[in-house]
Amino acid sequence: MVQADSVPSAALLNRYGSSCPRYTSYPTADRFGALGGAEPWAALKDIRALSLYVHIPFCRSLCYFCACNKVVTQQYGLASSYLEQLLAEARSYRDRVADVPVVQLHLGGGTPTFLNDGDLHRLVEGLGETFNLGGEGREYGIEADPRTLELESLATLRELGFNRLSLGIQDFDLTVQRAINRICTAEQVRELTDEARRQGFESISYDLIYGLPHQNLDTLRGTIDQVMELAPDRIALYHYAHLPERFKAQRLIDTDAVPGAAEKVEMQLAAVQALEEAGYDYLGMDHFARRDDSMARAARDGELQRNFQGYTLMPADALVGLGASAISYSADGYWQNHHRLKDYNAAIAERRSAVFRGWQLSADDRLRQYVIMELMCRLSLDKSEVARRAGAAFDDYFAAERARLEPLKADGLIEEDADRLWITPLGRWFVRHVAAAFDAYLARRQETPRYSKVI
Ligand code: SF4
Repeated sequence: MVQADSVPSAALLNRYGSSCPRYTSYPTADRFGALGGAEPWAALKDIRALSLYVHIPFCRSLCYFCACNKVVTQQYGLASSYLEQLLAEARSYRDRVADVPVVQLHLGGGTPTFLNDGDLHRLVEGLGETFNLGGEGREYGIEADPRTLELESLATLRELGFNRLSLGIQDFDLTVQRAINRICTAEQVRELTDEARRQGFESISYDLIYGLPHQNLDTLRGTIDQVMELAPDRIALYHYAHLPERFKAQRLIDTDAVPGAAEKVEMQLAAVQALEEAGYDYLGMDHFARRDDSMARAARDGELQRNFQGYTLMPADALVGLGASAISYSADGYWQNHHRLKDYNAAIAERRSAVFRGWQLSADDRLRQYVIMELMCRLSLDKSEVARRAGAAFDDYFAAERARLEPLKADGLIEEDADRLWITPLGRWFVRHVAAAFDAYLARRQETPRYSKVI
């Protein structure tokens, strides 16, 4: 049950509603640049477990709220030729990665289930020719669009080893669905959820969004009631950031129908209270898990990890991202493929590297990466461990950061003593702001906001 003092006031949500990075990486991807002679992928030779991410950018229709890197098309042939490029890129890693188990495989997009069953087979079997897909206790996840995912495809996905299914619901209210051009009934989702359970998917996750056009407290409550009946294992509740000047698709949304900041705060509070009362734990960073789910247990035991796809239970030393815009990382740094399909396809077809930017980590980056990960996943910092890694006392190394944290401390979001700094139950709502205090690049920057608003 939610403790009254761990629910933020509307005033607090407003105060910390400013834009803030999500820290799926540190430094954040907007810092990446030319790698010069650096080769962060060289560290792939010395790892014990690997994550794989595959980006499938195609969608059959445009959702007006979307800010993803996608290609809306009805031409299936584009996907078939892209698959060839993906597998060629996978093969380019053949001599560059240690022969270690892939503990996580994640298909994201776009819409990964744009691929037909035959091509899904071709993809996974092709990946298996380069990577060791036989890992024990592996997490294989796929993002699916419930409007187009066929019930029969769930059996194919299970056969290929997928055990986690993420369904993009967003909202069940028809007026909202019309305004975002994404119509999907609760019945379709129920059928898919039931069949996925029958097929033995271990985790079913729903994505929901608040702040969409025509949404209000009543419609959102209605959606959450329907979601609770279906009882997914995990829920991601995202905030819709209306930025039509940046995202062309959003210009198709009537700005006057988008709820204002105060209304969005009310919706967020109502949604979170309803989820917690229904037996979901708030993990932080928009994610919830049913109290009996392995992710919720891991959060309670301080064993959560975080990667580009969000929270995870399976630690890997490196991630290889395949496809347009995909990001990879190793202990030495990050590298990212071309965003545009045309540039990515051309690079692979001409046997050039598809990488267009990256980042080689410095010792200071690694330390801050560790600190931010600890805050995101364990909500706590062991100052002596940080000092050991820094080679200097925590309070001295991070004197400027501690000064930046003072207002957060005054608001009751963090506490500290001589040995530890920790995020309070109230502070869980503002983890990104606590982490941001340790972001050296953000502190140096005086630019217009470019990250998604927390509210
Ligand atoms: S929300 Fe998903 S399905 Fe809709 S356009 Fe964006 S990537 Fe495609």
